[in-house]
Amino acid sequence: MAIASELMILDSTDQPAATCAVCGNGVAAGAGVTASYSGRVLRFKCPGCFSRFQADPEPYLAGETGGCCGGEHEH
Ligand SMILES: [Zn+2]
Repeated sequence: MAIASELMILDSTDQPAATCAVCGNGVAAGAGVTASYSGRVLRFKCPGCFSRFQADPEPYLAGETGGCCGGEHEH
């Protein structure tokens, strides 16, 4: 059963500074990648971070990951 959660890329131009949903680094206002997913607006520092989210969004939405490695190992 599919969940109605669509990933849509938004225009970053008008977005305020935020924190990358994948790596936790700061994203400058109007920079990076912005997307909406499941009704939430998410900001990504770079296309690489966005690709990682795209490949496996759920852990990032759950806030279970942080730091540089997407929760693939403990620090
Ligand atoms: Zn990032």
